[in-house]
Amino acid sequence: MNQAPIPHVLVGRYDVYILAEGQFRMDGGAVFGIIPRPQWEQKMPPDAQNRVALGLNQLLIRGPDTLVLCDTGVGTKLSPRQREVYGLGPLSPWTDRLAPLGLAPSDITHVVFTHLHFDHTGGATVFADEGREVRPAFPQADHYVQEGEWDDACLPPEGESFAYQFSHFLPLRETGRLHRLRGSRQLLPGLQLHVTGGHTRFHQEIRVTDGGRTVLFPGDVCPTPHHLSIAWRTSYDRFPLETIAARRRLLAKAFQPDVLVVFSHDPQPAFRCLTGSPDQPEAVARHAPA
Ligand SMILES: [Zn+2]
Repeated sequence: MNQAPIPHVLVGRYDVYILAEGQFRMDGGAVFGIIPRPQWEQKMPPDAQNRVALGLNQLLIRGPDTLVLCDTGVGTKLSPRQREVYGLGPLSPWTDRLAPLGLAPSDITHVVFTHLHFDHTGGATVFADEGREVRPAFPQADHYVQEGEWDDACLPPEGESFAYQFSHFLPLRETGRLHRLRGSRQLLPGLQLHVTGGHTRFHQEIRVTDGGRTVLFPGDVCPTPHHLSIAWRTSYDRFPLETIAARRRLLAKAFQPDVLVVFSHDPQPAFRCLTGSPDQPEAVARHAPA
């Protein structure tokens, strides 16, 4: 049970929260690609199986009449064996995770996916009828994903099938509330979805801008603060040159006091502002006034 306070900032009309599902573990060599272990292990010490601890962070954006959830984490459907492989801790059902904010899963009005890999979609569906059925976790929500990402997830390109689990997203089709988007767009006033590609062909990032402040959620084109350096890329990116371009855009925007960044796999989830220079960026946790 995570008792840590839920990080929160006000962005104009929106209350923005980071919902941290916990941590999972991935091979450090894959997480840091071409970077030699002596360099990355100083920043993220690996365990005996060479795995590093990554966060599983979602963004919750509360507007006057809307409650938008960006990505849904690994959720509660993985088998005990899968949970062991990824070093996952105890299950965190949405009812428990939303209760500290006085919210329930049925209050979520929009779910937005950066992409459909298992660690971003698992929480979108839950077991029902004692595990015989899989149902949407947010029955009142409209769900948004890029159409190309949906198509790639349903028929994964060669070598990509391990990253997608159909039970996480296929049941959303039957709700009639699945929206497959074609390209970047504004979802709500001040809430922009921007296609980056890179990590997957139609990966998108989420930007919230209102009242003179911006929160950027770049998803897996920049999964942790350590990945701000252009050379520090994961081995999971399908289109590395697009990832580099997305990072450069992020770095061009984020060195401003009113721009905060939330990293999807930051092991210490926080709203961070960038200091230093684009060549040597540092992401400092900022506790902005609520
Ligand atoms: Zn991920």
